[in-house]
Amino acid sequence: MSRKDFLVFGSPKIEQPEIDEVVDCLKSGWIGTGPKVHQLEQDFKQYKGSKYAVALNSCTAALHLSILAAGIGPGDEVIVPTMTFAATANAVIHAGATPIFADCQKDTMNIDPDDIQRKITNKTKAIIPVHFAGAAADMDAIMAIAKKHNLKVIEDCAHAIETEYRGRKAGTFGDFGCFSFYVTKNIVTGEGGMVITDNEEYANQIKILGLHGMSRDAWERFSDKGFKHYQVVYAGFKYNMMDMQAAIGIHQLSRIEKYWLRRKQVWEKYNQAFKDLPVYLPSPVEPDSRHSYHLYTLLIDTDKVKISRDEFLNKMTEQNIGIGVHYIALHSHPFYQKTYLYKEGDFPNAEWISNRTVSIPLSAKLSEDDVDDVIEAVQNAFHS
Ligand SMILES: *Cc1c(COP(=O)(O)O)cnc(C)c1O
Repeated sequence: MSRKDFLVFGSPKIEQPEIDEVVDCLKSGWIGTGPKVHQLEQDFKQYKGSKYAVALNSCTAALHLSILAAGIGPGDEVIVPTMTFAATANAVIHAGATPIFADCQKDTMNIDPDDIQRKITNKTKAIIPVHFAGAAADMDAIMAIAKKHNLKVIEDCAHAIETEYRGRKAGTFGDFGCFSFYVTKNIVTGEGGMVITDNEEYANQIKILGLHGMSRDAWERFSDKGFKHYQVVYAGFKYNMMDMQAAIGIHQLSRIEKYWLRRKQVWEKYNQAFKDLPVYLPSPVEPDSRHSYHLYTLLIDTDKVKISRDEFLNKMTEQNIGIGVHYIALHSHPFYQKTYLYKEGDFPNAEWISNRTVSIPLSAKLSEDDVDDVIEAVQNAFHS
């Protein structure tokens, strides 16, 4: 009954133009940070409508450098959702500051503005909302809180390249928008990330911090415009993107709307197929907003059905379907419990989701047969 080959979760669609561009890059002899990275930055800032875009080697690096550029460090607190990937909180820790968790809303899974409000102290310097699964966070409420308390906003847009909130693009509300081109994300460069901002000083600082803290980047240093000395102005990091990565990204970005449309079709087919199962479907897209359709998450209705979430995961892998869990809330992981004394019971909504959530494959690469295999496997998991 089940498919012969394993359907890899979040497998990216790679097409011939990016393969050719990577080969071209290798043959050019310029594989480091150079003209292709510059082009990806230009294309990306045009897509998002931001003044500046700086390409880096991950979204984690983008978050880290945004926090540093905002002047946040030891003694400062930054509010992040507990329902997110570890990188959101770890970037705060890498900057020497303390992540303060907030609960999420049960339906949207996005950070709860009321809980942000409760967590603000005189040490709070910033909020990092995550546009969860591609659904825009409640940016009106979050920006109002930030304004009232004079906080920076750094948007974690790892799931949200195409997301819009009330007609405005995700990543352009806050001081910084941070994006990921990791292999499972909506468009990929292998590893890769981007920061967008409208603040020239922030953009320059991030560029310098991302390449050893040197005052000029390698492209200018080795160009034919004449030798230039550099000065080290910070103890910087090695976070630059290279042209081999950007070679993939340029073509991926040119197909972003096509891929979005395909994932939207799959999303709608899943919604239709699962509407009578003992699951909670993803919450509907908010009016005037755009979902990026990054993750399709089902919540197993454990009150109505005997199987646990973990049994469901096993039943899916037995049927050769790759699945994910996004996420077990951060406050349930040993590091954050040990270091910040969080415990079970602290964030009821995030825990409720953590115990029920499963993500099933959603990628532009899925064929109609793949989608049918996923649907059949989900139905089998409840009926066997
Ligand atoms: C993937 C992800 C990141 C990290 O992205 P990288 O590019 O892998 O560093 C950060 N936040 C969230 C919510 C993510 O899903």
